[in-house]
Amino acid sequence: MAASAGASSWSGSSGGSTSSQGRQLATAQPVQEERLVVGVRVRPSLEATERCIEVISGGSLLYDDGGKSRPRKYSYDHVFKENDTQEQVYKTTTAPLVKDVLNGYNAAVFAYGATGSGKTHTMLGPVPRKKPSTADRGPSAVVGYEADVSNQDIGLMVRAIEDIFGHIEAAGPESSTKVSISYLEIYNELIRDLLNPGGPLELREDHRGQRITVAGLSEITTSSRKEVVSLLIKGNKSRTMEPTAANQTSSRSHALLSITVQTRTPLGTKQGRLFLTDLAGSERAKKTKNRGKRLQEGAHINRSLLALGNCINALSGGARYVNYRDSKLTRLLKEALSGRCKTVMIAHVAPESKHRDETKNTLVYADRANSITTKLQSSV
Ligand code: ADP
Ligand code: MG
Repeated sequence: MAASAGASSWSGSSGGSTSSQGRQLATAQPVQEERLVVGVRVRPSLEATERCIEVISGGSLLYDDGGKSRPRKYSYDHVFKENDTQEQVYKTTTAPLVKDVLNGYNAAVFAYGATGSGKTHTMLGPVPRKKPSTADRGPSAVVGYEADVSNQDIGLMVRAIEDIFGHIEAAGPESSTKVSISYLEIYNELIRDLLNPGGPLELREDHRGQRITVAGLSEITTSSRKEVVSLLIKGNKSRTMEPTAANQTSSRSHALLSITVQTRTPLGTKQGRLFLTDLAGSERAKKTKNRGKRLQEGAHINRSLLALGNCINALSGGARYVNYRDSKLTRLLKEALSGRCKTVMIAHVAPESKHRDETKNTLVYADRANSITTKLQSSV
């Protein structure tokens, strides 16, 4: 492992391959498929109760508003039902992006949804929230997750790293590829390093607003998947968790993992980046019955999620001007979203009818993004 901070901060190419000499490299496979893929994942019901959602196929579901009107059908690129595995979700959404990243492109995956809808489960897996007691330590205890990287519940972040290492190994000993990661959170519009927690870090832009860097952010070069698992779990424990009326351990921060893959070739260096983002809970401030600090958090979260939705919609709708400036989240992700980047949005919903309103809000957010790509495709 090699850690560095400062110069190697959040920066890089804005899509496509670049060389260390500033030369543009031709990529083997141009990115041609859809730029924005929208999936909805329904998490398993946590209690035996009335449901508001029924998955009817791999691309559609029925939403029930409690009998006020007839169940409404929503369609997306993918719909994952409750017993779909982490592997299925990875293979469908993220594995295709890894190939692009190895070819020198940028790509991004977002986990969207209200607190408790399954975002962290998808991105990381069943992360231990507290140190388990000795009695908990059995073969199936979550603590085993730290040691057992082959755990089938392991999330997209580690699967992506494993996949990248797998491709590098398959390329043979001559391949000269470096993999590095950085992991940060945005909480109340402040950026913190999750791999090396400390005070807030500053976002810097060059004079043309093209290159964004996070001053002092650590970037760790790694060649071990086991090390990545423990880094991510440690980093996740540093995330800002605040009790709200909606959920005792609700995450009020966005967590952004960036995986940079640099390959040296006789012609120069190509660099691709994969951004994997576990977004803060999308529930409305009203639901969390918050005042003061909590209400302010909610306002920041709503604003940044709205800014993200606007950017994604503008980009997939082919807009010439996209406003990234409305939040730190979109400013940081400008690099990931602009250029020839592919984006996957996985919206998460809870099936229990008591979460009906948040489920509807999430379905509508995802539908807005999805309908734009569908429109684009049908007009080609
Ligand atoms: P969020 O990050 O959106 O707040 P979590 O990922 O923490 O939600 O999920 C809430 C609870 O539901 C956790 O106990 C988690 O283990 C469980 N859960 C979520 N999605 C799944 C899934 N696909 N399979 C099994 N359990 C899940
Ligand atoms: Mg979470």
